[in-house]
Amino acid sequence: AAVLYIVPTPIGNLGDISQRALDTLQAVDVIACEDTRHTGKLLSHYQIGTPTWALHDHNEQYKADQLVSRLQEGKSIALVSDAGTPLISDPGYHLVNRCREAGVQVVALPGPCAAVTALSAAGLPTDRFVFEGFLPAKDKARHDKLESLKDEPRTMVFYESPRRLLETVAALVTVMGPERRLVVSRELTKAFETTHGLPAEQMLAWLQEDSNRCRGEIVLMVAGHKADADALPVAAQKTLSLLSADLG
Ligand code: SAM
Repeated sequence: AAVLYIVPTPIGNLGDISQRALDTLQAVDVIACEDTRHTGKLLSHYQIGTPTWALHDHNEQYKADQLVSRLQEGKSIALVSDAGTPLISDPGYHLVNRCREAGVQVVALPGPCAAVTALSAAGLPTDRFVFEGFLPAKDKARHDKLESLKDEPRTMVFYESPRRLLETVAALVTVMGPERRLVVSRELTKAFETTHGLPAEQMLAWLQEDSNRCRGEIVLMVAGHKADADALPVAAQKTLSLLSADLG
């Protein structure tokens, strides 16, 4: 039976594509991608001649239906995005959803993903984390979003544009406080890869010092909110104030 393969591709370093990903891209009938020219370069580098088909975000629902029909005719398809794992802040959700509804088998290959790569080297807790993707671009919406995450106890992972990093870090200082620990990972797997961790206010100053520190592709991570270790549970506080009132 036909299968839709979800195939991750490198996030910078071409050496990060797996042998299984290459074999799959070679073997399928069609490769559905975001941008045929971008994926074409990857394919020609590995001398893979499989035809490509664009699955743009704005027409994904329509294109997804067409691909499901192809799969139902017995054709196998690989889905790739420009970089990293498809569906992770990238197109593919409608296609996978329709395949599942239509009973078409979906097989995901493991591979590069900027969020997981950044998190695994950040030095922030990884036992629990939340992936928040891109923050809203507008000030008010972004501020509201951060406000809603203020008390989130898990490590938060964001994708951020280099144009907005400074504003976002400034908003984090305001909303989550100057001491909240941040880690900025830039250009992962590439020549100018850096990972830098600082409390929010110091991070803002560090980024402002040198505009190169905001360049390139960025994953921003924010330590989860820590309940004040010294604070007594609410019930204990009540008892204490009753007691001290009695004694007073
Ligand atoms: N599907 C991709 C994945 O699995 O990571 C993410 C696609 S999303 C459209 C692109 C964003 O991912 C970039 O704006 C950046 O925030 C992050 N990103 C991708 N490659 C990166 C890299 N090499 N270093 C740091 N961040 C990266």
